[in-house]
Amino acid sequence: MLPPAEVGMKLEPIRLCAACYTESRRRYRHKLHLLSECPNCGARFKIPALWIDGHCQRCIMRFTEMENYQKFVEV
Ligand SMILES: [Zn+2]
Ligand SMILES: [Zn+2]
Repeated sequence: MLPPAEVGMKLEPIRLCAACYTESRRRYRHKLHLLSECPNCGARFKIPALWIDGHCQRCIMRFTEMENYQKFVEV
């Protein structure tokens, strides 16, 4: 069984911290719930190397907007 092309080599879902993406220059750690799929359309994120566009590949929702969907969690 071959995995779908979008999954690539990793079996685990790609997790995105939209807050860190937005504030990549600051390296403090967030205690945020990581996103494994787009909160707007539910599309799985592609590999981080393809995040240069800064938005969902399907619905074009920006990562900066997704930051609002991340919930603070106690770690
Ligand atoms: Zn973060
Ligand atoms: Zn989307």
